[in-house]
Amino acid sequence: MDEITGTYDVVVIGPHPDDVEMGMAGTVIRLVETGKSVLNICLTRGEKGTYGTTEIRRREFAAANKVLGSTPYMSDFPDTAVTVDQEGKLKIARMIREARPKIVFAPYHTNPHGHHDGAANVDHFATGLLVRDGVKLARFKSVMPEIPAHDVPYLYYYMVPKSKMPNIVVDVTSVIDRARDSILAYETQMAIQKQKNPILHTLDVLRSYYGLFIGVEYGEAFYSEEAISFGPTNFFGPSD
Ligand SMILES: [Zn+2]
Repeated sequence: MDEITGTYDVVVIGPHPDDVEMGMAGTVIRLVETGKSVLNICLTRGEKGTYGTTEIRRREFAAANKVLGSTPYMSDFPDTAVTVDQEGKLKIARMIREARPKIVFAPYHTNPHGHHDGAANVDHFATGLLVRDGVKLARFKSVMPEIPAHDVPYLYYYMVPKSKMPNIVVDVTSVIDRARDSILAYETQMAIQKQKNPILHTLDVLRSYYGLFIGVEYGEAFYSEEAISFGPTNFFGPSD
């Protein structure tokens, strides 16, 4: 596996090519627009997907990141078998120490869905658990003493389960077309649309729904497990 070169303001982590785009493309685009450097880590190469080869999926991942403005990085976790074990946690901790972000995004970590639900891919929840533990291990100096420890100030979850109330919603109305374009870059995965599940429409409906939470046309939902401190940028600033 390659090393991550350079540091990033934000790291977004997904198990498969397309998860970050489907869950939070608009937020990535908005972060990049405000000057943040974003590293998009895909844990697997999507080799067990029904559609597309690993080479095609790698190309689609690169094309989607071009639309988002983020830097793509593909790791080598096994597709459909992302496992919550010490090896995986340490791999995440190493990536976090290399990239040294202020914010990390991961899929939500606990599955409340039935097995037919499209959101209930086992890798999604395993990734959330791995990242939560990996971010913690990244803080401990004695773990991998060869790389300086790093404390990630903020860890947020995307892919919030439908039964869970998000506590952060980002307005993505201004970038909704580009968010759609990043999802459409996954041509092989859009093949699923030809069956009975119109993915892009479903994602639009979800974003409209979460937009209602904050009174905008389109929103993306997140969950923070830690209290968010009010500061000059979100409460005590002059523009508030
Ligand atoms: Zn996925």
